[in-house]
Amino acid sequence: MTVRTLDDLGELRGKRVLVRVDFNVPLSAGAVADDTRIRAALPTLRELLSRGAALILVSHLGRPKQREPELSLAPVAERLSELLGLPVQMAPAVVGEQVSKLAAALAPGELLMLENVRFEPGETRNDPQLAAALAELADIYVDDAFGAAHRAHASTEGVARLIPKRVAGLLLTREVQTLTKLMSSPARPLVAILGGAKVSDKIAVIERFLEVADTIMIGGAMAFPFLAAQGHEVGDSLCSGEDVEHARTLLEAARASRGELVLPSDLVIAEHFGADAAAEPLDGVDVPAGHMGLDIGPRTVADYSERVARAGTVFWNGPMGAFELEPFAAGTRALAQALASADAVTVVGGGDSAAAVAKFGLAERMTHVSTGGGAALELIEGKQLPGVVVLDGTAQDAGVTL
Ligand code: ADP
Ligand code: MG
Repeated sequence: MTVRTLDDLGELRGKRVLVRVDFNVPLSAGAVADDTRIRAALPTLRELLSRGAALILVSHLGRPKQREPELSLAPVAERLSELLGLPVQMAPAVVGEQVSKLAAALAPGELLMLENVRFEPGETRNDPQLAAALAELADIYVDDAFGAAHRAHASTEGVARLIPKRVAGLLLTREVQTLTKLMSSPARPLVAILGGAKVSDKIAVIERFLEVADTIMIGGAMAFPFLAAQGHEVGDSLCSGEDVEHARTLLEAARASRGELVLPSDLVIAEHFGADAAAEPLDGVDVPAGHMGLDIGPRTVADYSERVARAGTVFWNGPMGAFELEPFAAGTRALAQALASADAVTVVGGGDSAAAVAKFGLAERMTHVSTGGGAALELIEGKQLPGVVVLDGTAQDAGVTL
């Protein structure tokens, strides 16, 4: 598909641009705890501002059912203002008379942040009235919210359909291009590392990688359903019966697939999940009763790291262990270091995986750290993202191919 981008917008002085951003950031004590997603939108915002546009920003934050003051975007507007070095006006609501007045009064180079769009129940229903009210605020729509592109909501899909001049922002474009290329024409070997907590959320992703990747390495709690399906003891490790069934099917599929499915050969175990738990090495993968597997072991780390070093492209989703707890962070840290040192194209997706890479100070050394967890996985599964599809067909002669 082809979409228009910022390059196709022409003169912006005197224009009001509605920018859908993904400012769904973690808050702590009323302040932004991690501003990665705000920083990721800066290139698009700076470009539009430098060309004289007035910006109206719209985002969701958390999952409020209605107006919930603790999920106001005010702290986000404050952080954005610090990062841009410009005032960011906070709107009192998402839409309505007061908001329309504020939007109409914006001068070139000024910014208005709308309130959390999920304060409006119409947002997740993709309500045409809410979409129309948003569309009335601006002349141009820019979607830079990759993390929300898998949802057909009023601020991602509904409003876009109503504004003929709708384009993809720089972040959204880079995200879609990187992840699409990863699946369609990766430098080989393509190695996928999949970990984290639940197999059932990621079955379709594993299935797709079995067809497309050369190697799929499994770690984290996700390994236990596979190990159980092979007849190993998993002790108290995270491992639901339903996931064991899924793992059995995937192991069956792996016999005939292009990709080789690789499982851990040793583990780090403990008697319970906690920072005070004593980490014990386990040579092998049969977890004794009364214990749970909380990290991959050193032999597995060495094997996985070596495969990463030989890769042309690496995609990583899901930590190798309970990395938030220091005794069980070694596997995830070592893998992150292996990616950082590899010559390969390295792409990291998933909220906790991105947080892990950032925690180890290695985010800058990856080719791409996706800002979209669910959206990135859906794209990899081969699904169309409604927020991107709605931008398609707007460019016959210009634009970029996604
Ligand atoms: P992402 O957000 O990157 O997609 P997930 O949400 O699927 O990743 O998984 C991350 C979570 O998995 C982390 O909170 C981590 O503590 C947990 N985890 C990983 N390995 C284990 C394990 N062996 N036992 C328990 N929890 C684990
Ligand atoms: Mg997660």
